[in-house]
Amino acid sequence: MARVDVIVLGAGIVGTCVALHLAKRGVAVALVDRGGAGEATSYGNAGIIEGNTVFPAAFPDDWKELVRIALKRSPVANYHLTFLPRVAPWLVAFRAASQPQRLLQTAQLMRPLFARAVSEHEALSAEAGAGHYLRHQGWLKLYRTDRAFAATARERDIAAGLGIANVALDRAAALGLEPALHPVFRHAVHWTGAVSVTNPLALTRAYAARFAALGGLLLSGDARTLHSVDPRWRVDTAAGPLDAGEVVIALGPWAPDVLVPLGITLPLAVKRGYHRHFAAGGNAALGRPVLDAENGYVLAPMEQGTRLTTGVEFAPRDAKPTPVQFDRVMPAARQLFGLGEPVEAQPWLGARPCFPDSRPVISRAPRRRGVWLAYGHAHWGLTLGAATGRLIAEMMTGATPFCDPAPYAAERFLP
Ligand SMILES: Cc1cc2nc3c(=O)[nH]c(=O)nc-3n(C[C@H](O)[C@H](O)[C@H](O)COP(=O)(O)OP(=O)(O)OC[C@H]3O[C@@H](n4cnc5c(N)ncnc54)[C@H](O)[C@@H]3O)c2cc1C
Repeated sequence: MARVDVIVLGAGIVGTCVALHLAKRGVAVALVDRGGAGEATSYGNAGIIEGNTVFPAAFPDDWKELVRIALKRSPVANYHLTFLPRVAPWLVAFRAASQPQRLLQTAQLMRPLFARAVSEHEALSAEAGAGHYLRHQGWLKLYRTDRAFAATARERDIAAGLGIANVALDRAAALGLEPALHPVFRHAVHWTGAVSVTNPLALTRAYAARFAALGGLLLSGDARTLHSVDPRWRVDTAAGPLDAGEVVIALGPWAPDVLVPLGITLPLAVKRGYHRHFAAGGNAALGRPVLDAENGYVLAPMEQGTRLTTGVEFAPRDAKPTPVQFDRVMPAARQLFGLGEPVEAQPWLGARPCFPDSRPVISRAPRRRGVWLAYGHAHWGLTLGAATGRLIAEMMTGATPFCDPAPYAAERFLP
């Protein structure tokens, strides 16, 4: 029987950073996944390390936008009608958490994590020899209407108060930064401190390789085999059964598959999202990711091509792909930037694991000794992965956590 101190279940960006931070502290760790490190949700994001985030994504407060979503005309959100009754309680909670005062509270509670997002990735990527995947050019949000730009004033004011660098640009100044864009927008905001990743899969793989170089075990196995062999936890892996005193559930959107049988039911929903790469259209190239705000998509320059990522889709995690949002955004995207042919035959589909209050869970599991939770990072799993790894490793090893972990405790959802 193989034994380690800690089993980390899930080798996405979150679990890999958790495992690496534990290994750096001398803990004997096995990182278990049924696939390769970083190949699931963490493969397909827009690659933005958004330390600049102030407000989380919110339920629309504009009735016109809601009607467009309901009529399936909005590029920002899509839904499967039959799924709505199941996700309705989550949506009600999400809407409540989207009230202005609650958003402000969330911004304050999340700030310590976001503030460490970039520096923690810089540190891990440097020691993993992966610094070349990080691009220090910020990211650019474009606004086609004066109204949409004016609506950013509150966020930019708060950001300025928090020392989060951002520069409002007119069209000419934005084109100075990104000359390949077409002048179909009126305003831009350059979030200068954000960092972007040219290949999120390669970054997670580099962190996993660093973990292995420190003596960590990377094993293939099904997390659903987790069971208690009192007082330890056991998982079946391709290398045989594996025991540990503690286990970290870092399974992103799949965390409920393991937690619900353990009697831990937290209000996780998924916001599905798609991407597709496009070859360069002529000489057109971007220097940094660009958001077309009113149209709800991002163009992110990646090693594989220009990655177009879509807004959200409310549908069962495992339902077959329905990438209708591409049809809705492609005309706007081609108007903004010279996209060539698609690289893949079909879009990639992923599922953002989201709690209704837009905070992840980074804490001990309720009522289950030896079980820790690190999941639910929503739109910011890449951004917050490295900081999450540090925070949970500090908690597990009895060090002083770099910030108060209370806002991220699972207990907030318990009666
Ligand atoms: C379109 C899109 C764009 C995004 N853009 C950004 C962005 O720009 N910036 C940002 O910060 N975030 C972004 N995100 C969010 C980010 O990608 C996620 O929050 C993050 O990848 C979640 O990481 P994770 O490690 O928690 O989950 P995952 O990467 O999904 O990792 C979970 C792991 O668990 C494994 N697993 C599942 N079930 C089992 C099992 N039974 N047994 C063993 N292993 C199992 C999976 O194989 C997987 O490797 C985006 C997401 C999407 C969909």
